[in-house]
Amino acid sequence: MDTFVRTGQRAFSITEWSNEDSSLIAGFSTKLSGASEGCFGSLNLGYHVEDKENHVRANRELLAGEISLPLSTWVGAEQTHGDRVVKVMTADKGKGAKSYDTAIKDTDGMYTFESGVLLTLAFADCVPIYFYAPNHHLVGIVHAGWKGTVKQIAATLVREWNSLGVKSEEIQAVIGPSICQSCYIVDDFVRSRIDKIVTNIGEKYYTEKEQGQYLLNLKEVNLSILQQAGLLRENIYTSSLCTSCDSSTFFSHRRDQGNTGRMLGFIGWKE
Ligand SMILES: [Zn+2]
Repeated sequence: MDTFVRTGQRAFSITEWSNEDSSLIAGFSTKLSGASEGCFGSLNLGYHVEDKENHVRANRELLAGEISLPLSTWVGAEQTHGDRVVKVMTADKGKGAKSYDTAIKDTDGMYTFESGVLLTLAFADCVPIYFYAPNHHLVGIVHAGWKGTVKQIAATLVREWNSLGVKSEEIQAVIGPSICQSCYIVDDFVRSRIDKIVTNIGEKYYTEKEQGQYLLNLKEVNLSILQQAGLLRENIYTSSLCTSCDSSTFFSHRRDQGNTGRMLGFIGWKE
C-alpha cells in the first residue's frame, strides 16, 4: 500500500502519521471535483497560474471542507524554486490562503510548532517532502523540483531543525506524489548539477535515454539528500504515485506541457 491513501474525492492523506496523532492532517490533493475549467479542470489550487481567482478560492474552500481545516488557517508561499525555509507562526494564518498577493514571499519550505495552522505548497510534478518530529511537536514541508533538489532544500530544513535542538534521527520524512523516473527527461545541464550533489555516494540516479537525454529519479535523489542529512532510512517513506503517469488524478506540468493546474501538499494540526 502507498504511503498516501485516498481519503476523499479531493485528497490523499498520510494515514500512517494521522493514525499516530489524530489531530495531524497531512496529504496531497487531486485534480478532481472542483470548479475550474479547461486545462485547470477541475480542482486547480494554484493562484499563480492563469485560472480565475474566484474558482481557485472556491476550490480551496472545497478542499478545506473535505479535510476539516478552514481556509482561514492555511498559509501559502510565493514559490521560486529556491531553498529558503521559514518558520510559520499563528500570526501568519491566512497568508496566501485567499489570494496570492498575501503569500509569504520567496519561500519553498515552511515549518511550524503551532496547532491550527495548515502549511500549503503548490505542486505539479515537483517533489513534496513532508517532515514530522513528534517529540518536538514540529511539522514542515518543502517543494523540491530539480532546482530545489540541487540546492538541497530538504537538507536546509533538517539543518534548521537541528539548530532548534531536534536530532536528525528524531525526524520522519515522506517523499510525496511527484514525477517518476520514466516520465522525467532532463538534459546535460541538469544531469551535471545532479552529479555534483550525489557524487560522494557513488550512485547514479538517472539512466541515459539517448545522447544528452536522461531519465532522472528526483525522488531517489531527495531520499539520498535526507540520508546524508542524518535521517534514518527506516524513517523515510516514498510514495510511488506519479503525477505524470496518473492523468486521471493529477495535473502534470510536463505531461500537460505547462498548461495545467496545481495540487497542494499540506500539513498541520487541527486545534
Ligand atoms: Zn510517471
